[in-house]
Amino acid sequence: MARQRKVRSIIVLPDARLRQVSQTVPTFDQNLIEQFADMEAAMRSGPGGVGIAAPQLGDNRRIMVVDCTVARHSCRNHGLLHLVNPEIIEHSGDDVLGREGCLSVPDWIGMVSRARIIRLKYQDMQGETYEMEASGFEARVIQHEVDHLDGILFIDRVVSTHDLVRRMG
Ligand code: ZN
Repeated sequence: MARQRKVRSIIVLPDARLRQVSQTVPTFDQNLIEQFADMEAAMRSGPGGVGIAAPQLGDNRRIMVVDCTVARHSCRNHGLLHLVNPEIIEHSGDDVLGREGCLSVPDWIGMVSRARIIRLKYQDMQGETYEMEASGFEARVIQHEVDHLDGILFIDRVVSTHDLVRRMG
């Protein structure tokens, strides 16, 4: 029988761990693979989870998971991404406004301006370095998750607090 992975709970505001700057990952080992599995399980445990960053599980490492294939609206995307030490090295295209929510800020959504196209440098679980370009909704999700690694939440970036509204239903 398959071993059941216990879903770790996502920490929410005002937990101070969400506000820390996360540390660069120096070693690529089994522990990292386990952490990715925990993050993916937590991301998929709620409705509409398209990304999660390690600080949301109280882990202070620069790791995140993105999967925009499950987004309600279809978008160009790279499928399931396991990103270690991600770094946005280029922003391009006009900034676009879009609605954002966060598993760590339950019940709230807001309008945030993000670059339409980004170029991302990152490492995979084995420590190999890659670069990729993302656009549209996937670029938005990546920018949101990289912010988590720097202790920044989408509510810090909402255009105005009038745009921060309680999710209904
Ligand atoms: Zn978030």
